[in-house]
Amino acid sequence: MIQDIGPHKFDLTYGQPEAQDHDHVLYMKNNQTLLRKKADSNYEIPRFADFPNEKEELKAKAYYMFAIDDMKYYYVTEMEQGEENGFEFCKTPVYRTMTPMYQAFAGITATQLHRWKESRKYCGRCGSRTEDSKKERALVCPQCGQIEYPKISPAVIVAITNGDKIVMSRYRVSSNPYRGYALIAGFVEIGETFEDTVRREVMEEVGLKVKNIRYYKSQPWAFSDTEMIGFFAELDGDDDTIVLQDDELSEAGWFTREEIPDETMMNSIGAELKMVFKYGSLEKFYEATGYQPE
Ligand SMILES: [Zn+2]
Repeated sequence: MIQDIGPHKFDLTYGQPEAQDHDHVLYMKNNQTLLRKKADSNYEIPRFADFPNEKEELKAKAYYMFAIDDMKYYYVTEMEQGEENGFEFCKTPVYRTMTPMYQAFAGITATQLHRWKESRKYCGRCGSRTEDSKKERALVCPQCGQIEYPKISPAVIVAITNGDKIVMSRYRVSSNPYRGYALIAGFVEIGETFEDTVRREVMEEVGLKVKNIRYYKSQPWAFSDTEMIGFFAELDGDDDTIVLQDDELSEAGWFTREEIPDETMMNSIGAELKMVFKYGSLEKFYEATGYQPE
């Protein structure tokens, strides 16, 4: 998954360390990030040293976010460099395919943090301008003391199985740009346990009853400010008739193990759930397909 970046280590220690030339800098504007295009149609996150004319100025005003190993990541919202000399403003889907995957993880996590800071410039309670907390990753209101932490919305994703079959669906183009076969997923609502959400979402989206809800793994999914909580669940009873929710999904059905397409990008928990069901374990999937985790 996108956060499985070993042997690299993600370091969230809060602080405002001084930027160095070799540290990464993300210039963010209108939910897009200035990245450098490489020859192989891939993109890379630039470093301060890539902007010799303005790096000292950038280093002085950049906001520190996190580190991976000894590489620190900062962002800026103003810069002289634009889309020239191989630089391009990229939207977040670029991180669905960027390699190496730890850089994609850094990029999308940085985007989430920036999006949160931009949306909490003012206190939601009294309207005053918020400030960075000195002791933790939070914005504080100097007037009323309100504290705002980064927005992380939990959501469940569930592999519904019945013997050799699994439920997969496709989203309507208008509700989600993802075109492949997806598992049932949805946000946790107030007053719900994760298991309640699984039962409700499955009933709402495909009209099925499930039992034996078993936790698999979780995953930060910064594309939608989400923490995905992954589950397996079994059909409860004999009625496997799928009743589709019209407004979100365009199709859904039961598929056998052989009918599940092999994944070519294992960055999401949905991909893992499908491959674990198809092959029995992640290791067996790697063995059978020759897929190399990044
Ligand atoms: Zn306030």
